[in-house]
Amino acid sequence: MNNDIYLDGNATTCVLPAAALAAADIMGQRYGNPSSAHGTGLRAKVVLDQARQCAVRLLGVGDGRLMFNSGATEGIQTAVLSALVAVRERQARGEPVGKLLVYGATEHKAVPEALAHWNRLLGAGLTLTALPVDADGRHDLAALRTLAPDAAMVCTMAANNETGVISDLDGIAGVLAASGTGALWMVDCVQALGKLELNLAATRIDYAPFSGHKLHAPKGIGMLYVRAGAPFTPLVMGGGQETGQRSGTENMAGIAALGVVLAALERGDTFPSHAQLHGYRARLADALRAALPGTVFNNAFDKSLPTTLNFAVPGVSSRELMDVFDAARVRVSAGSACSASKAAPSYVLDAMGLPLWRSAGAIRMSFGAMVDDATIATACERIAHCGAALRAAGMIADQPSAEPDDGLRQLGTEGECSWLVLDAASRSCIVIDPLPAQTARITAIVRGHNYRVQAIVATTAHADHGALAHALGAHFDAAAPTDGYGWPALTAHRLVLGNGAEVAAIAIGSQVLAQVTAGEGARAYLLGIKDGASLPADMVRFAFTAHGDLALPALTTGQTLLCPTRDARNLLCAGPLAAVAADLQLDSSTLAAFLDSHPDAVLIDVREPYEFAATVPPALAGVATGNRAVQSVPLSRLVEHASLWLRGNTHQPLVFVCRSGNRSMKAAQCLRRLGHPGSYSLAGGLALAA
Ligand code: PLP
Repeated sequence: MNNDIYLDGNATTCVLPAAALAAADIMGQRYGNPSSAHGTGLRAKVVLDQARQCAVRLLGVGDGRLMFNSGATEGIQTAVLSALVAVRERQARGEPVGKLLVYGATEHKAVPEALAHWNRLLGAGLTLTALPVDADGRHDLAALRTLAPDAAMVCTMAANNETGVISDLDGIAGVLAASGTGALWMVDCVQALGKLELNLAATRIDYAPFSGHKLHAPKGIGMLYVRAGAPFTPLVMGGGQETGQRSGTENMAGIAALGVVLAALERGDTFPSHAQLHGYRARLADALRAALPGTVFNNAFDKSLPTTLNFAVPGVSSRELMDVFDAARVRVSAGSACSASKAAPSYVLDAMGLPLWRSAGAIRMSFGAMVDDATIATACERIAHCGAALRAAGMIADQPSAEPDDGLRQLGTEGECSWLVLDAASRSCIVIDPLPAQTARITAIVRGHNYRVQAIVATTAHADHGALAHALGAHFDAAAPTDGYGWPALTAHRLVLGNGAEVAAIAIGSQVLAQVTAGEGARAYLLGIKDGASLPADMVRFAFTAHGDLALPALTTGQTLLCPTRDARNLLCAGPLAAVAADLQLDSSTLAAFLDSHPDAVLIDVREPYEFAATVPPALAGVATGNRAVQSVPLSRLVEHASLWLRGNTHQPLVFVCRSGNRSMKAAQCLRRLGHPGSYSLAGGLALAA
């Protein structure tokens, strides 16, 4: 059962059923080679010719060339190669030719990469120059006016894949004409196909690449338009197919499918109208505004394709939004290149001058032309569901949450992290080593649960927590005197530690946090349960240090978990044991058998609570979990639970699961390292099990 709401149409689209049928027909019945002279070949050639004629009419190719190829990346190579070969020829003849390869700052990476590659390979010696865009993502025409006279080639996409922003092609054409430049002009039309009117031969555009899979044709089929008279050099030489312009036996299944899509576009009876698409986007935007207060749209709707929304939510990272949407089976993409460790800011949004939080926190929602009313309705319901899940988890600080957060929380589990010690009963908390990037998150948690922050402490001297203190407002007494580590100067409690030293401590609920010197300019904090006026080593559950590798003899025992704030090795936390066995991974095909033979095994979902809450069932479809309930222990809470599991029966199997198998792997590794040999991870995660 596919319960997915696919809102990633700018990445790729499903194949139109009629197009899939046409491809199947080509593979099954009309499998001939269109170059063959016999009947079987001719039956295939008819399909090829019809698809091309349709494309020629639809795109207004006029007397230009229109060749089929493997997709836009190939089309871009052919265009760049053609232009640069012409440049080299002019250079060789001693004729004047521009020195710049100008490309829009928001182009798809295929464009600058192809320009750099062919420029180097052909030894053209031109200089790549990014053309800036304005705050709306549109090309800076004044800058183009300056660059155009010295340009050999200008590349400006028709519509952007991240934002859907539509370029002012008439404006660009006007600047190029007025400058009298001989520059060749490529317009990447990938995102424009089917969404913008194109009449290519009536324009000055020299090259226009297209890609089938962005508009309901399969992957691996594309087209390139070349204006009549524009320089052309084939990229692929061989049997002379495509009238010698692109050799290689044609991808007939792809061409047949693309032909069906183009014919549907031409008829205008298959895809929703522009007005309908605008209506769908408006509904999604309203749902986002309602579910995620503070949502900011990164694309101006009146200047972008009606099928694209790009937005950010204050205090919620793109990774968290991706995770919650994915749990709800709403497939979107991070507007930026989201690496496993950190959300890198989007170069497209950076070029528009957006602040870092909007660029690094961006989510792109885009729908294909096959979207319908029911899909949008379900998408809106699930967006509301995601908003509720985030709010319940205290991720959105629009109102105090009814459910207070309690215990130890680790914020950021990749390389660097902050720790929050939360006590629901007293509604108070202590922050340890807050990272500047987490100011908004910490503030949201504190405000959302209406906590009083007792202290913001650091493991190293001279840490500046001014921004967080300011953001916390009335929840933190920033005027109270502290030492250089943020430790309150007027701490009332004094405790005797396991080594006999007497130190200052802060009470937080039933626990205490004591501070100890951990070398030159460094502090460690011990969290545990006091015994009268002392904190013996075996009552210290957690020790917070900068690197988590500090031995604190007599102050802690082997059962104390060492919690680093600079976790370069991604350990989450450290303990006495080091070896990690190889049999850590279970795959979805062996999970059921494993659970059958281990009736006491516990399934633990380490996704964050908002993902767990937003999950659209069945999360573990196809996996016989018996009557076992799946326990939710988010990775940010793992360390606290680890401390309990390690003090309990360490032979009870713990099977960790998450979305992709990445976080569960970390959890299982961490537990194994700490001395829980029965810890396992479900490889591939719920994404493969569901
Ligand atoms: N140009 C743009 C604007 C795109 O969105 C894409 C697809 O990601 C490409 C080029 C590359 O297209 P293809 O996947 O057909 O190589």
